[in-house]
Amino acid sequence: MKKMKGDIPILMYHQFLEKESDGGKIKLYVTKKKFEWQLRILKFLGYETITFKDLKRIGIEKRYEKKYIILTVDDGYKDNYEILFPMLKKYNMKAVIYLVSGIKYNKWTIDSDGEKKFELLEDSQIKEMQESGLIEFGGHTLSHASLPSLSDCDLYKEIKEDKDILEKRIGTKLVSFAYPYGHVTDRVKNVVKDLGYDFAVSTDTGTGFIDDDLFDIRRTAIDKGSLIDFIKRISPKYLNYKYKKYGNKKFRDKE
Ligand SMILES: [Zn+2]
Repeated sequence: MKKMKGDIPILMYHQFLEKESDGGKIKLYVTKKKFEWQLRILKFLGYETITFKDLKRIGIEKRYEKKYIILTVDDGYKDNYEILFPMLKKYNMKAVIYLVSGIKYNKWTIDSDGEKKFELLEDSQIKEMQESGLIEFGGHTLSHASLPSLSDCDLYKEIKEDKDILEKRIGTKLVSFAYPYGHVTDRVKNVVKDLGYDFAVSTDTGTGFIDDDLFDIRRTAIDKGSLIDFIKRISPKYLNYKYKKYGNKKFRDKE
């Protein structure tokens, strides 16, 4: 019955830029100005931003009691500290950032697309963000690998070592994980589960209802779209609409 209303909207961001010309080839960013408008819209509509740790504490079954939303940010670029973090402080809102722990810059997009170099967050920045209570960090592998393509041994290593490094770095247990590129199979999902995560987020898979599969939580990408498009995407029914329209993208494990 409650499902009629949809579920908590879960948004996916990557980079935050002062101006569009700071961006690279891959247009996965929002400008500071547009992001501020988005936060104002969320405030105006009465949304409360929470993290996955909050969701665990609130309890999955009680998630409809308030108007919650989860902002997630992939990869952990330095601009998250320079632009996202001050904005969250200004509006007292929260986000979950998924960190790649084994490298210091976007090696994976440089290798695949000849992207320009973007630095990832430094330890001191991560520490300050963690201490603010506004940011929760989650795992996103050591090297941003497409996990289904890896052997069992490498798959385990990418997720386990990343988790160990990050938990040591931030001094707390990680609650959620994001599959790089949204690439997930049952084999990948089982490793994430076995390593003790409570939730995992995807991109083009999952039904749009969190409790259908806590390890395949669908998200909607927010990048250069208009504010009208943003309003459409934060509707609690949007993720299930996406599932009904496109179904689940299939990924295959390497033989
Ligand atoms: Zn990523």
